[in-house]
Amino acid sequence: MNFKLILYIILTIVALCQKAFCQQIQAPLIHESIKIETDNIFSKLVDIRRDLHENPELAGNEVRTQQKIKQYLLDLGLEVETNTYGHGVIGILKGAKKGKNIAWRADMDALPNDFADNVDFKSKTKGIQHGCGHDVHMAIALGIADVLSKNKKDLKGTVYFIFQPEEETFVGAKNMLTNGLLAKIHLDEIYGFHITALPTGQIMVKPNEMFAYQKMIQIKFKEELTKEQTKELSKSIHDALSRFAAGTKPWEIQGMLDPKIGLSNPNTIFKDYSFMDGNFSFRSKNNEVIWEAYLYETNVSNVKNIIPKVKQVITSANLQQQLLSVSFVQENPTVLNDKKLTESAIKTLNTIYGKGFVVNDYGQVPYFNDDFAYFQQKIPGVYFFLGGSNFEKGIIAMNHAPNFAIDEECIKTGVRSFSSLIFEKANGN
Ligand SMILES: [Zn+2]
Repeated sequence: MNFKLILYIILTIVALCQKAFCQQIQAPLIHESIKIETDNIFSKLVDIRRDLHENPELAGNEVRTQQKIKQYLLDLGLEVETNTYGHGVIGILKGAKKGKNIAWRADMDALPNDFADNVDFKSKTKGIQHGCGHDVHMAIALGIADVLSKNKKDLKGTVYFIFQPEEETFVGAKNMLTNGLLAKIHLDEIYGFHITALPTGQIMVKPNEMFAYQKMIQIKFKEELTKEQTKELSKSIHDALSRFAAGTKPWEIQGMLDPKIGLSNPNTIFKDYSFMDGNFSFRSKNNEVIWEAYLYETNVSNVKNIIPKVKQVITSANLQQQLLSVSFVQENPTVLNDKKLTESAIKTLNTIYGKGFVVNDYGQVPYFNDDFAYFQQKIPGVYFFLGGSNFEKGIIAMNHAPNFAIDEECIKTGVRSFSSLIFEKANGN
């Protein structure tokens, strides 16, 4: 190695150190403190996530999970409330001064799965798994509570950590609300997220709908149609309800990660579409023949046209005499991000962590939804996606998939960035 090269390396190192130092002193101290506290508790959070992963509980049965959460929050010195609904837990962190009332929501339940799980901390309960990542949601929420409680003297307002049971059955949020959650606590804003297949630590969000509207359509006939009639009518309904750009396949959800067609591209194929998911299922009950299928529609104003359109197709096929009814049998609301709060959250995070830190989402994901939507009907709120995949390590955090796994590094990004966000929001920024 010659002298010039050594000198060059030394100067480069000095320049990099200076740059790092400058960045450090320019960053507001509170977010530096949040970073340090996050790093300090990271292994503790990994441990609790793994403990929850080993001991998953189904919706309505989150007994041990509730105890773990409650104990962690009590150890932090938070007030804890467990009487709102089911096995829910609310941790209350009061700041040193007056400010806003901000809620952070995490869901608690696991799935009735029995997939091979390629980790050392597999589920100890046969047939139940954290296959949707709610274990990571809880670990991150506990991490935010931990980090913010250590910065309490600078915190204004109150942060409510809502650990919500029974998300998979879509009743937990609704029942917390109907059981008087908002009579107990006044909330100005609510935030939450879902782990998904994006690269680990990537935060993605958009105003308004994060998902397509999911509807289950049910058609009742007086009697079974002939094989030929069934085949033709199914196809006609399918065609009538399909809308997507030529050559695109918005039902192939793995495409959402593709930079050319995925959610992060303004020309994504996951916007402005509608499709029927697979074929109808058929059954008979009380002398009625019932057809059912799931539909996905991105545009809310088109939803009201679906039933008339199906009736029209049935009439055109001359089968109206056989028809008893067409209806939606599932009317769940969808996650709807408050536009102003979403824009403000993106701005806050990008100001703290650098331009482009939050990736803009341009699409609407089919198949999924979250009962966080019920909270958003009452309180303006924002629901983020947080990436949990590490493609090089073969970890793909595709929720509910047989090979669902999570790169735990996302816990660090989640705790750090969402703690910063909640701190700023509670402080009224
Ligand atoms: Zn989930």
